[in-house]
Amino acid sequence: TDDFTDRIQRVEPSATLAISNLAAEKEAEGADIVDLSVGEPDFDTPENIVAAGTEALEAGHTGYTSSNGVPELKDAIAEKLRGDGIEASADEVIVTPGAKQALYETVQTLVEDGDEVVLLDPAWVSYEAMVKLAGGDLERIDLAPHDFQLEPALEDLAAAISDDTELLIVNSPSNPTGAVYADAALEGVRDLAVEHDVTVVSDEIYERITYGVEPTSLATLEGMADRTVTINGFSKAFSMTGWRLGYLHATEEFVSQAGKLHSHSVSCATNFVQRAGIEAFANTDEAVVEMRDAFCSRRDLLVDLFADHGVDVAVPDGAFYMMLPVAEDDQAWCEDAIEQAHVACVPGSAFNAPGYARISYAASEERLREAVDRLAENDLL
Ligand code: PLP
Repeated sequence: TDDFTDRIQRVEPSATLAISNLAAEKEAEGADIVDLSVGEPDFDTPENIVAAGTEALEAGHTGYTSSNGVPELKDAIAEKLRGDGIEASADEVIVTPGAKQALYETVQTLVEDGDEVVLLDPAWVSYEAMVKLAGGDLERIDLAPHDFQLEPALEDLAAAISDDTELLIVNSPSNPTGAVYADAALEGVRDLAVEHDVTVVSDEIYERITYGVEPTSLATLEGMADRTVTINGFSKAFSMTGWRLGYLHATEEFVSQAGKLHSHSVSCATNFVQRAGIEAFANTDEAVVEMRDAFCSRRDLLVDLFADHGVDVAVPDGAFYMMLPVAEDDQAWCEDAIEQAHVACVPGSAFNAPGYARISYAASEERLREAVDRLAENDLL
């Protein structure tokens, strides 16, 4: 392994891989697996978006675009952000192949060896990997004892953040918990960020999937405009995971630095996909609401089904995940769930939340019922 960099050896392969491998093995043996481990909506991309992508392809939009994105899409993104209350212009946007690339570029632009980065646990798996690749040190705040809410953990956050902190990553609605942080919590984050001169990454990729609550963009809070990198994308809102389209918004100064990495790595997001993105923003509100309502019914169903078996979950206000309290050894529980019940979910340990399993409800109500029945029959609830 001497040939490989320290940087790459610091990173573990995706923890969800073990579970999907096991699920694939079982399926190959002919088992019917209910897969609740997936991180993507189970809907087709809305037709108008597919048509716009196809038309763009046929019209010959197949060359490179300007590195930070086609002007019409950057304009549409800036307009969308202004609608959310962020004072955005097209020059402050980089269009990326997925939000993941936007996050990767952000961390590479801000974090160097020994820099301290604060994460709110349970946290999405890739934040840790990105920070480690950049050489940063992680400081972690555990929200699990607080039903995954941020406000009751603000004291812990205050104790963790110091003038040495470079970056804080906030993800609301959250993967894996589905929590949507209240304004009071975000204002607490703002106060700490301003006091200690910390940059905050606000990953808002699940923003369009919330149930009766309006998520607030951190960059709209006073004092946050110049210290927030807002991350968003098309994967979850428009069921476009495989298209790979996302973006970041930050100061022009940040964009000119991050833009170097962007142009020297991916060059640009795919041309005809960017054109489909313009259509997604323009004409898809109805489909977005339909998908959100379906997720909401499934959330309600699952919460009720678990309650019927005496299991209380923290009711999520957004995204399409919930954290199920399971055995102390959540990895073993998830293996049993696949082996015995043929239900796949992700061990909470993958998100630094041992004792839980992440359930994705991007599956039909019928399959959700089936999953809960099987878990119960195998004494796993
Ligand atoms: N951020 C969070 C919290 C996610 O859950 C995901 C996808 O699972 C992403 C970012 C990346 O999404 P994409 O790269 O598909 O835009």
